[in-house]
Amino acid sequence: MNFSYTSTRDDSVKISPKQAIKKGFSDDGGLFVYPNIQDINLPIEKISSMNYREIAKLVLSKLLPDFSEAEINESVENAYKGSFDNEEITPIKSLDNFHVLELFHGPTCAFKDVGLQLLPQLMKHVLNKDNKVMILTATSGDTGKAALEGFKDVDKMGITVFYPHNGVSKVQQLQMATTTGSNTKVAAIEGNFDDAQTNVKKLFNDNKLKQRIGENVTLSSANSINIGRLIPQIVYYFDAYKQLVQNNSIKVGDPVNFTVPTGNFGDVLAGYFAKLMGLPVNKFIVASNQNNVLSKFFQDGVYDRNMPFFKTVAPSMDIQISSNFERLLYYKSEDDSNYVAKLMHDLKNNGKYKVSDNILEKIQADFYFGFSSDENIENSIKEVYQNNKYLMDPHTAAGYKVMRDYQKIDSKTPMILLSTASPYKFVDAVANAIMPDKSDDILANMHDIEAKTHVPIPENLLKVWAMPVLHKDVIKQDQMEDYVYQKVQEVFYDKD
Ligand SMILES: *Cc1c(COP(=O)(O)O)cnc(C)c1O
Repeated sequence: MNFSYTSTRDDSVKISPKQAIKKGFSDDGGLFVYPNIQDINLPIEKISSMNYREIAKLVLSKLLPDFSEAEINESVENAYKGSFDNEEITPIKSLDNFHVLELFHGPTCAFKDVGLQLLPQLMKHVLNKDNKVMILTATSGDTGKAALEGFKDVDKMGITVFYPHNGVSKVQQLQMATTTGSNTKVAAIEGNFDDAQTNVKKLFNDNKLKQRIGENVTLSSANSINIGRLIPQIVYYFDAYKQLVQNNSIKVGDPVNFTVPTGNFGDVLAGYFAKLMGLPVNKFIVASNQNNVLSKFFQDGVYDRNMPFFKTVAPSMDIQISSNFERLLYYKSEDDSNYVAKLMHDLKNNGKYKVSDNILEKIQADFYFGFSSDENIENSIKEVYQNNKYLMDPHTAAGYKVMRDYQKIDSKTPMILLSTASPYKFVDAVANAIMPDKSDDILANMHDIEAKTHVPIPENLLKVWAMPVLHKDVIKQDQMEDYVYQKVQEVFYDKD
């Protein structure tokens, strides 16, 4: 039996799924991958009569073979029972010539909940008796709150989130600052998201900090480089297919296309894993915003991050290094970790790399890449609202435009567009698109959008406006180490 994950940059690495989840990423800087994923073949016919949690248990049992059946069952039940406001977890809505897969019905109203409700439950079964884990997360908005909710009050775990001061949307800031729970810590840092991210990475390798907090507390990460967050996202691709079979849009075996708005390439990579595991997918349509490093790569195979950075109306996709793309390069180079290591070396030293024609062709066979400007995004929100009375958030709308471009090439294959967040998380962009007389007051705009569209505001995004603000810390970057030390003491040792 093959229990081992390996590193994208060194295939002599062998690590069990449990250790891979605990560690997050490999010491050589690579990401953990399951080399034989294409040998797993899930029974699509049978899946077509399973519910979401049953599909989740099946996917996890294949990719996390060192977890017992009881551990997987308990993790899945704890993650998804009662935490989503829709029984389907990720329901599908059919519009004209496409279907929308709504991934935002979790507690924080973005798709990050699907992975981050489950990751803490898996991590519980990874820790030994005396182990404790402090999760450190830098966020540009959505990951922070989703991670806070997932790890809140989980035994032997704490979470500290750093976000850029004045760098997230008002709703996102309120969501984080009102988080309850005795093990949740939040600080705004003076700097931007990249500063937060760079400093958090430094803390993971900070030996002085490790000594101060002692060996019973491990620092770990909750972003999409962790396989424990990526694997849960494979599930909704199978579940979406199942829903289309059940409502007679397709028959078992028919190919479908998926359009996925992309930042770190985690969400769409999970879809590619589903394809490798037997899901009949024709193409993945990958949509960026104005930060379109990937769509340039699609033309000539050159990945070049030396481009101007844009702050866009879809901020969760404002990213130039799509970390999970490294995993795709690993699979497309037929598990050639030396080759991937060389490309990543080029990226680090020159800010760019070029893949061989052969690998580019293999990527083009499965993927189509495009992008949306801010103007495209607002026009798309408006168009879909006018034509379909359906309200999209700006990230989903970035996908919509690229999807329509692709449908000029192929309009026949059934198309599923992933909707990654509630429109009420990004009130400004949505109001700009559909409210000619919007005000400057965000809460008033939320109510006006609801009155106009009859799309209900999710309760969790409304109630934060009335909740006490519990997290007010604003710190400098050079205070982050002391801050983490102090929070470890408060979470694990200062309790009565
Ligand atoms: C994180 C995020 C994305 C990008 O997902 P990746 O997995 O990073 O590609 C898209 N939309 C929203 C709303 C997000 O929060």
